[in-house]
Amino acid sequence: MQSYEFPELREGVRQVVSQFDSRYWQEVDEARAFPEKFVTALTEAGWLSGLIPEEYGGSGLSLTEASVVMEEINRAGGNSGACHGQMYVMGCVVRHGSQKQKDDLLPRIASGQIRMQSMAVTEPTTGSDTTKLKTTAVRKGDRYVVNGQKVWTSRLQHSDYMLLLARTTPLAEVQKKSEGLSVFLVDLREAVGKSITVRPIRNMVNHETNEIFIDNLEIPVENRIGDEGKGLKYILDGLNAERILIAAECIGDGHWFVDRAKTYAQERVVFDRPIGRNQGVQFPIARAHVNVEAASLMRWRACELFDAGLPCGSEANMSKLLAADASWEAANVCLQTHGGFGFAAEYDIERKFRETRLYQVAPISTNMILSYIGEHVLGMPRSY
Ligand SMILES: Cc1cc2nc3c(=O)[nH]c(=O)nc-3n(C[C@H](O)[C@H](O)[C@H](O)COP(=O)(O)OP(=O)(O)OC[C@H]3O[C@@H](n4cnc5c(N)ncnc54)[C@H](O)[C@@H]3O)c2cc1C
Repeated sequence: MQSYEFPELREGVRQVVSQFDSRYWQEVDEARAFPEKFVTALTEAGWLSGLIPEEYGGSGLSLTEASVVMEEINRAGGNSGACHGQMYVMGCVVRHGSQKQKDDLLPRIASGQIRMQSMAVTEPTTGSDTTKLKTTAVRKGDRYVVNGQKVWTSRLQHSDYMLLLARTTPLAEVQKKSEGLSVFLVDLREAVGKSITVRPIRNMVNHETNEIFIDNLEIPVENRIGDEGKGLKYILDGLNAERILIAAECIGDGHWFVDRAKTYAQERVVFDRPIGRNQGVQFPIARAHVNVEAASLMRWRACELFDAGLPCGSEANMSKLLAADASWEAANVCLQTHGGFGFAAEYDIERKFRETRLYQVAPISTNMILSYIGEHVLGMPRSY
């Protein structure tokens, strides 16, 4: 059986993340600031370019190894949400970009010269019903003219390039509703403040995310990725990697919550005994640990299939569901174990609690995963 310990890899990531202590995360959370120093340190150490092939300056890690990087960040008390886009958004260029796009972008992303960690798919009126999105890209000679609106476009203010999904053929004119959408590279340094207006959304977690309004944005044809009309397929191709990496973050969170709960349960003495001696306190922590470990096994299985180039849609989805549920359960248990102190910001628990709650909704909500499993794995009727 393969070992998933990766002691050297874990130690390498820990050397960077351990420089960012609890105080650092509390300060950026309170200021709702982007953890710039943290993201720069990870980039400079090469951890965020893990999935870029070596020929383009990346370290060519497997997804299994990349998942360990994400796990360790969250396990150390950090929040990968600020940087995970840098790890996987460029995957669309690696898999479907032209040689020119790869040569131009990938080495600069790998070196940290530019960031491409933003992806604009979700729209305010259509939500999870992606094929009905209303942003249009109309071809005019050697350019596309884009108009529309996106929401929850994360890390845009800290990116140089963004992936944008827009409709190039009206829905009424395509045979399958998944056709007629195209994906584009947007140079944000040129567009923001001119044809893209950004409205930041203050939200429950310290997550830089925005509503954007696109008004006659001109994109050169050479910035389209792959064929016109096949953009949704290209985006979906990247989602298995995204789901597995997010699962790994949840597993990191889950371990962090269990470690904190276990330690506190042994130290906190009430009624003349450590609270962890009470089974009412101990068993929920034990159960949370079991669930995190089980989710991790599904993560390894999904990674193994992905790295072998085999279909892994159901395993990627199942690992995301199990891991998000396990980390959320562990968060609740950890908070409960700490009693009132769990609510104090200095313990970090309320922050991590908010951060891990997000994964029940984004980047894909639990119901959408269950409907995928119901329909595509179990063969039950399509529900939407
Ligand atoms: C902090 C944050 C960051 C994000 N970052 C990005 C990003 O960078 N790029 C991006 O494109 N998007 C991003 N998103 C958007 C995210 O992917 C969506 O919020 C998510 O996919 C759900 O879509 P929605 O919010 O429109 O919910 P809706 O589609 O409106 O759904 C609302 C609820 O109803 C449920 N529901 C809807 N239809 C059905 C059905 N048929 N059956 C059962 N249940 C159903 C959903 O599961 C959900 O729980 C982000 C969101 C957040 C909160």
